Amino acid sequence: METSLIILKPDAVQRGLMGRIISRFEEKGLQIVGAKLMQITPELAAQHYKDHASKGFYPGLVKFMTSSPVLVLAIRGNGAIAICRSMMGATFGSKAAGGTIRGDFGVSNSFNLIHGSDGPEAAARELGLFFKAGEVLDWKRAGDAWIYDLSSGTPE
Ligand code: UDP
Ligand code: MG
Repeated sequence: METSLIILKPDAVQRGLMGRIISRFEEKGLQIVGAKLMQITPELAAQHYKDHASKGFYPGLVKFMTSSPVLVLAIRGNGAIAICRSMMGATFGSKAAGGTIRGDFGVSNSFNLIHGSDGPEAAARELGLFFKAGEVLDWKRAGDAWIYDLSSGTPE
């Protein structure tokens, strides 16, 4: 099982889209194992987006991400990191395909609603930035036997 760090960005929270976006992940069969409404500090934004520090869009990105509360989620499932990325769609709202979160709910290239870890290494680093020990819960979901084929002992 993989866990991805997802951020519903300030535009998603302000536009009242949190529920609809979370529903998509739940309906897919992914499990919410952490959730936190918070305001990102400039220091945390800088750590989170450190790889983008030299980019032209970086100052605007930090300003956007710290401008209003975000909902941070830890989302778990088989292949969850890539599944979340494909459900999010391409970075730019203007280019993201229909059926994806960015494609269906936005048109902006910077206010693009959602962040998702882009690989296992990033997920581990980002989960550590946003969640303290004990805040990501290993909880048993009653319906898992109908989400996954568990007949072999491992979820398929
Ligand atoms: N971004 C932007 N302008 C750009 C590229 C990126 O404002 O030209 C913002 C956008 O909010 C994006 C974030 O910076 O989600 C991080 O960029 P990245 O290329 O990592 O895209 P992502 O992984 O979020 O799809
Ligand atoms: Mg990225």
